[in-house]
Amino acid sequence: MEQQYLALNRLDRLLGRAGWIDQATAMQPYLNERRGHFHGEVMGVARPRDSGQLVDIVTVAGEYGLGVIAQGGNTGLCGGAAPSGMKPEIIVSLERMNRILASEPLDDVIVAEAGCTLAQVQQAAERIGRCFPITYAVREECTIGGNIATNAGGMNTIRYGNTRRWVLGLEVVLADGSLWNNLKYLHKDNSNYALQELFIGTEGTLGIVTKAALRLAAKPGRVYTAMLAVPDIGAAVKGLCHLRRVSGDRIITCELLSRACVEIVRRHMPDAVMPLWMDAPWYLLLEIETGRDETILDECLASGIESRWLLDWKKGGDDEIRRQWWKIRNSIPSIQKMEGASIKHDLSVPISRMDQLVTQGCTAMKAICPDVRPMIFGHLGDGNLHFNLSQPPDMAPERFLSMWDECSERMHDLVMMLGGSIAAEHGIGQLKRRELQRTQSPLTLRLMRAVKNALDPEDILNPGKVVPPAPGQAVRSVSSLIGVDGASENQGETDGSK
Ligand SMILES: Cc1cc2nc3c(=O)[nH]c(=O)nc-3n(C[C@H](O)[C@H](O)[C@H](O)COP(=O)(O)OP(=O)(O)OC[C@H]3O[C@@H](n4cnc5c(N)ncnc54)[C@H](O)[C@@H]3O)c2cc1C
Repeated sequence: MEQQYLALNRLDRLLGRAGWIDQATAMQPYLNERRGHFHGEVMGVARPRDSGQLVDIVTVAGEYGLGVIAQGGNTGLCGGAAPSGMKPEIIVSLERMNRILASEPLDDVIVAEAGCTLAQVQQAAERIGRCFPITYAVREECTIGGNIATNAGGMNTIRYGNTRRWVLGLEVVLADGSLWNNLKYLHKDNSNYALQELFIGTEGTLGIVTKAALRLAAKPGRVYTAMLAVPDIGAAVKGLCHLRRVSGDRIITCELLSRACVEIVRRHMPDAVMPLWMDAPWYLLLEIETGRDETILDECLASGIESRWLLDWKKGGDDEIRRQWWKIRNSIPSIQKMEGASIKHDLSVPISRMDQLVTQGCTAMKAICPDVRPMIFGHLGDGNLHFNLSQPPDMAPERFLSMWDECSERMHDLVMMLGGSIAAEHGIGQLKRRELQRTQSPLTLRLMRAVKNALDPEDILNPGKVVPPAPGQAVRSVSSLIGVDGASENQGETDGSK
């Protein structure tokens, strides 16, 4: 304990008033995890102003055995930026490191500090006539460092890929306090092991990203927006495949919304402009970059009705309609909250198997909880669904949430059978650590531990996240993590079960 006070004193002196918070109320905003599932305490919150200060923080933490949790916008959905309670921890918020450091039109690159929001990065790209194409609902809050750490996807992945594709160079603070400067703008570089990939999508467990050199794209030209009503997922996939060919792979977005999702939006947002006049089982919100001639798309959609993969469609003629449709799509997560407790899954499968995922997934969930209300939406174009479940209206929220582990196990078994992933774009964090351990091969787990041990043998960076513990050690279940099973401690499985 005395050692920890010495560490906190050093951090206080190092960072000063603007950079160090240790009063309980001032720390609270950093501890409030968005879904309210993860609760914990830290010894303080560090707010470094630059990479040099971050190096000092990690060095002190290493000397005194403190865990260091990197935090960007705190919009993550898996408890990755929340304390794990595995050891005394501090949060390092990147919020003061939020400068755009360079814009290089000839190289088609901008360099940003990790605490810049995604919106800031997009605006910087716009200023030089280009675009940073990763985007989604919370772009004003999430940071580019968090996007890199989670390899964020979003609405445009079908056209532009994940964040990984747009990272050319990184500067990273490592667990031993060294600063790895790989802030290059190169499109070709086979001079090392592609080490920078280690820091993308690894959720702050291998290094803390401080700066990034980001590749830019051309701004899309004219965009054709349409809302489609489809009879089932198989038809939606068939239509997507057709449109991909007709448009020459120019689909920017293909978002799927179930009728249940549209209905809750209608219930809670009575002024929302509903997409189509008929009640379809599924809707697709589509954006396609076009040349001037859009008749080919009009014809394709008109013929979709004749071929019966399409029930109805409407073209989004002006910006206001488009804004309204996106409002419906982007409101689903917050409106689902108003419907009571929810159990959420972020899954991907090959697109050809999405129909099976939805049909068999709904059957499996109803077998566990007959009145459960599936709220399925997501990025159809990437095979990525948010297979969310809302509680039956008359069930106590705690009782519903206590089914989380059983629902997830069934759902993840199905996903593995279909050749998919239990963590498509939101990451593992604390939430899916046990499921990672259960669904991945012993060899994959061994490789993950080997990488973690090589880069962070003392487990300083984001302890208790992503990497499952060594064989024989337990991982907490979701019910225990979110406190709905009455169990307080490590109830779990041992390593290696597939
Ligand atoms: C309404 C809503 C919609 C969303 N939609 C999408 C979506 O469509 N696609 C998608 O991919 N995600 C989505 N997310 C999830 C979330 O926004 C992303 O995971 C995002 O990339 C997190 O960024 P952040 O800055 O908020 O990171 P945080 O939440 O602060 O942290 C997330 C993880 O990254 C680590 N981390 C943060 N900064 C750094 C850094 N500088 N260096 C190293 N590690 C770091 C943290 O330790 C933590 O493990 C959504 C979230 C919400 C609330």
